[in-house]
Amino acid sequence: MPTNTQTSPAQVGINRARIAQAIDTILAGQAPDTQVCAYIYDLQGLEAHARHLVAALPDNCEFYYAAKANPEARILATLAPVVHGFEAASGGELDWLHACHPEMPLIFGGPGKLISELSRAIDLGIEAIHVESLTELRRLAALCAQKQASCRILLRMNISLEGIAQTRLTMGGKPTPFGIDAEDLGAAIDIIAAAPQLTLAGFHFHLMSHQLDVQRHLALIALYFATFKRWCREYCLDLGLLNVGGGIGVDYANPEQVFDWPAFCAGLARLIEEAQLTGVKIRFECGRFVTAAAGCYVMEVLDIKKNHGEWFVIAHGGTHHFRTPAAQNHDHPFMVLPGVRRRQSTETEGDDTRLVRQQATLVGQLCTPKDVLARRQHIEALQLGDYLVFTHAGAYAWNISHQHFLMHAPPVMHFIES
Ligand SMILES: *Cc1c(COP(=O)(O)O)cnc(C)c1O
Repeated sequence: MPTNTQTSPAQVGINRARIAQAIDTILAGQAPDTQVCAYIYDLQGLEAHARHLVAALPDNCEFYYAAKANPEARILATLAPVVHGFEAASGGELDWLHACHPEMPLIFGGPGKLISELSRAIDLGIEAIHVESLTELRRLAALCAQKQASCRILLRMNISLEGIAQTRLTMGGKPTPFGIDAEDLGAAIDIIAAAPQLTLAGFHFHLMSHQLDVQRHLALIALYFATFKRWCREYCLDLGLLNVGGGIGVDYANPEQVFDWPAFCAGLARLIEEAQLTGVKIRFECGRFVTAAAGCYVMEVLDIKKNHGEWFVIAHGGTHHFRTPAAQNHDHPFMVLPGVRRRQSTETEGDDTRLVRQQATLVGQLCTPKDVLARRQHIEALQLGDYLVFTHAGAYAWNISHQHFLMHAPPVMHFIES
């Protein structure tokens, strides 16, 4: 259980009335018998939340958005005026981000970058490339020499996490494909020293995701600070930049418990003072925590049935649109909104058209038992045509889903603006 949580209206997600209104808008634009399946995004809420995140940071910090959490053009356009830059985790994202926002500072990370992608990043003159291995470093040095072009790099490092409490998703502190082993740092610095076009701007760490605990995250950042200072000393480096990654989580089991960002920022300011790093730029690159609460996935209830003693609610859509519950292996938080059919039902009513105070498993339309969004949930009242609204579906949701499986139509994408 996280020790430091708070509730901020901007982070709790979209409210019922606004979703109901958005559903009415979607229905108004469609054929009369259309059954709803949609992602609904609250861009106003997203902007307020992002402003709150950036404003709370100490002065020497920067906040980038990790676009892989959700690269929707409208999401990027909402965040572009608020955040300091975008992080790309692939050549595809780099091209997309540059095409959408040529003015935004871009950073480029991720393992296994293609030579063509490195070349493109150099040509674009992006803010920094995060180097993941010695091979990548040599390739970059060769490319820069060949082009006679310079390039700012950060070395992504995988360090030991001894004494640091781990989350359920760690990218380092153990054998992983991410980052350069601390043992190879000397070799990396030798390669850079021999490559005049490469500028080592700083170090990059992103070792944990799904962080729900403020104190644990501060302990991780303190370790990054200590490591950064030690390496600067040991290798006589004068570096002005430290990227501390992303990884702030969302508690899907208790979504009203929100990571206490103001408390984290207060602790961060103290750490920066103690480590005397006020002159170093501390850069964040967060994804999930920025966009998760801004989106929901809405499915209209198509069928309700009892099978071998258990109730199932079958709704329009499924994990091919919204893989998050399957990917995380969790029961996704949801609420029920009354459908328009409650008011104007023309279907013959049977005993199986409604549930009252029952336990049911919520599933989609796929022909696989894995298409489950939440298992054995208490349902207060539900009937055919109602809407299941899965909240916190704004990050790692649509864009991580296997959309082509079964050739179902895609969901409607609806954006609530002011
Ligand atoms: C995915 C990723 C992020 C963002 O992680 P979140 O948990 O969504 O904040 C940041 N940096 C790197 C290198 C990543 O791979």
